[in-house]
Amino acid sequence: QKESMDSDIVIIGGGPGGYVAAIEGAKQGAKVILIEKEELGGTCLNRGCIPTKALVRSSEVYELVKNSAEYGVFNSSSSYDFSKIIARKNDIVNELVGGIDYLLSKNNVTVLKGSGEILDKNTVFVKEKNKEITINTNNIIIATGSKAFVPPIKGAASKNIVTSKEMLNLSELPQKIIIVGGGVIGMEFAFICNALDTDVSVVEFAEDILVALDEDVRTEIREIAIEKGIKIYTSSKVEEIIDTEEGQSIVVFDKNGTKGYITGDKVLMSVGRVPFYGDIDLEKLGIDLNEKGRGIKVNSKMQTTVDNIYAIGDVTNIIQLAHVASHQGIIAIENILGKDVEANYEVVPSAIFTSPEIASVGIHEKAAMEQGISVKTGKFPFGANGKALTQGERRGFVKIITEEATGVILGGSIIGPHATDLIHEVAVAIQNKLTAEQLINTIHAHPTTAEAVHEALLATTPKGAIHF
Ligand code: FAD
Repeated sequence: QKESMDSDIVIIGGGPGGYVAAIEGAKQGAKVILIEKEELGGTCLNRGCIPTKALVRSSEVYELVKNSAEYGVFNSSSSYDFSKIIARKNDIVNELVGGIDYLLSKNNVTVLKGSGEILDKNTVFVKEKNKEITINTNNIIIATGSKAFVPPIKGAASKNIVTSKEMLNLSELPQKIIIVGGGVIGMEFAFICNALDTDVSVVEFAEDILVALDEDVRTEIREIAIEKGIKIYTSSKVEEIIDTEEGQSIVVFDKNGTKGYITGDKVLMSVGRVPFYGDIDLEKLGIDLNEKGRGIKVNSKMQTTVDNIYAIGDVTNIIQLAHVASHQGIIAIENILGKDVEANYEVVPSAIFTSPEIASVGIHEKAAMEQGISVKTGKFPFGANGKALTQGERRGFVKIITEEATGVILGGSIIGPHATDLIHEVAVAIQNKLTAEQLINTIHAHPTTAEAVHEALLATTPKGAIHF
């Protein structure tokens, strides 16, 4: 059965980039068609942000139950059922996918389930079940996301190798896991598995885990990870994976010329993600890749080298975060609908769901120094914050960077309880060029972990913090 449709905007890919763009476009009155070949919500909702955080929560609850005596609560037997943890995660994902479906239909977005193919700059083709649909459209947004990168090392075909996608659907956790790559995804899984009693080794090529973080934060999380029993091998290049007759795998790595070997039941490859072009023939369409050849090239309006075709989210490989994909989606829609707006990445908070959590925004102390900016640094430990103590979460700190001459807030890093929520006060301040003084003059409720932010702000001034 053949059908044809007309639209203002066709969006290919229903992740946080694509579905947010679709809703925004429809809200502004455009006729929008969203094409998704798998599940609405994309990687983020089905295989990324949300399912990992469901697992983080289960692992935290289990850890809390194991250590409940500290709170005067006794629990004679603590155990977990991984299949129930996965089932809970699936329920949350399904609820949210259903929610997106509802929102799209409420906003009159037409959703087509199939693989979108761009025939030319005004024609998109999709096969939905046994219907062949040709869409005539004024604009196209490519939001096809990314996929895990598995490096072509010897033994990479081992059946024990998994990516984050498979990790989220294991029937049980392995006794021993080796995580190759100590970035955000790798370290989140390291803390989840460790809390759930799996023996964890992380092998990282760089000189440290989570290299993009502020140095103090990195040191803190590394120390906490090691205290919890996570083994970390840095400056270590994985060379080969050898399967044993007993069904395990040996990861062979080179650390400054010396070989190391770790044996485990599963090997999680978390060395990065590469753009996924959704089988769209970019070359034929005249859509260029960026300078590195990884990711669709876009200008600040999210326009590709073909003027009515836009690209947003992980496929552009600018910053691989869900909230950046959504921001870019809105920017693309605004430009398509006649406004003149540019994507701005100066104030993008990043959140890492290790235990404790980590968040940062703006510039780090070292980067400021490298850029020749004279800064003041204020630091306040959660160990001196009443709320954190009542929560039993005394590790970590808030660190704020201000411009020395003006007191304008330039950056913040938080490691500790609710870090990923607390960071937004700092983000709003940076976005609006607020000074430390302005935030200090805002009364912070007591007792809250937000008081640690207040105190770190005070610590950037000559007066210093009150409680430390
Ligand atoms: P995606 O979410 O990847 O969506 C792309 C969609 O396009 C997919 O649904 C795909 O099926 C569809 N598609 C592809 N080709 C076609 C085609 N031809 N036709 C139709 N449909 C097509 N980010 C955060 O901000 N916070 C986190 O805590 C976080 N945790 C993560 C944890 C993990 C384990 C992973 C893997 C990622 C995590 N991310 C996190 C990153 C986040 O998931 C991505 O940045 C985000 O999903 C990118 O959104 P997107 O819309 O660009 O692409």
